Amino acid sequence: MRPFVHTQLAARVVFGPGRLAELPEEVDRLGARRTMLIAGRPERHLLERAAELLGDRVVTIWDDVRQHVPQDFAERAAAHAIEHEADLIVTIGGGSTTGLGKAIVRRHPVPILAVPTTYAGSEMTPIWGETTKGDKRTGRDEAVLPKAVIYDPQLTLTLPPALSGASGMNAMAHCVEAVYAPGASPVTTTYALMAIGSLAEGLPRVVRNPEDVTARGDVQFGAFLAGAVLATAGISIHHHVCHVLGGMFDLPHAELHTVMLPQAVAAVAKAVPEQVAEIAGALGAEQAPAGLYDLAKGMGLPVALSQIGLGEAEIDQAVPRCVEATRGDVLPLDDAGARALLTAAVRGQRP
Ligand code: NAD
Repeated sequence: MRPFVHTQLAARVVFGPGRLAELPEEVDRLGARRTMLIAGRPERHLLERAAELLGDRVVTIWDDVRQHVPQDFAERAAAHAIEHEADLIVTIGGGSTTGLGKAIVRRHPVPILAVPTTYAGSEMTPIWGETTKGDKRTGRDEAVLPKAVIYDPQLTLTLPPALSGASGMNAMAHCVEAVYAPGASPVTTTYALMAIGSLAEGLPRVVRNPEDVTARGDVQFGAFLAGAVLATAGISIHHHVCHVLGGMFDLPHAELHTVMLPQAVAAVAKAVPEQVAEIAGALGAEQAPAGLYDLAKGMGLPVALSQIGLGEAEIDQAVPRCVEATRGDVLPLDDAGARALLTAAVRGQRP
């Protein structure tokens, strides 16, 4: 065993179909009396169920959730939490909802209990993100890491197939990159490879039959581990390029990850061949880049940036930013490397 450093982040995880019913016990466990309950309007039915379960533990409800957590909006939500003297934030929803919870507790330091309903994985990380005038800032703060997480696969049955597939590929990106990210350790690699297997096996079943609770559970288990390794192993070239493209062109988060991942793994294969071979093994594919591409395509997901709104004319603008963003990565991109990567991704070439 080679020497390593691994930070084990503490969060209590309650996992299984129907376990939302345990929300009151979990809130009591945290010693909270004044919960602020947050879920977006499309998840109103979940918000109502949680409110009913929690009864008078809830002091206020917030149902306005926006993508990418605009800073002024976060400040308003935090002021609301302060005004109601909330001593716990319960979030029910995807990464945008968890993100709002994190933005609130940065300003009003109370614990978060997260109930995720997509596969983004934010609930397992101490990473926050906020936007001001289209500029996204992210940072780490262990105070924003939820203290407890309830994963109930039944809550994900309504996530539409295409969104499930893309969100699952976002989780896939977290664990694939964790294998060669700077903080990788034998612990995170074990988690990551297990998650890659769960996601590769479960996602096509979820997309074929969105109401298959067992498949939903397999994918959610993968998403949980993916979030955990994102938090400790960190990120690399794929995420850095996605941050550049997402920020410059406002592309849809999960679909952007879906398209870029096979191309980014093809690019790093020269630099970290052993790790990329391990990823292929976990995927059950001969080659990791082609395996990831075929997985996405087989689920009917986009495989080309041109399908999600980015054309070849935009490549030149993005090249210097990608070079800059990947400077410290396992494979720092030069101009030619960035141009080749982006061209293949815009065209959706099978790597
Ligand atoms: P999201 O939270 O915006 O949700 C996407 C859509 O799915 C929304 O329309 C929502 O209403 C809908 N939805 C959610 N759950 C549903 C369900 N069960 N049934 C039906 N519809 C449902 O998107 P996301 O992909 O979950 O999260 C993306 C955001 O999370 C981005 O801002 C990203 O930067 C952030 N993120 C942060 C971290 C972190 O560690 N901080 C990690 C991953 C993602």
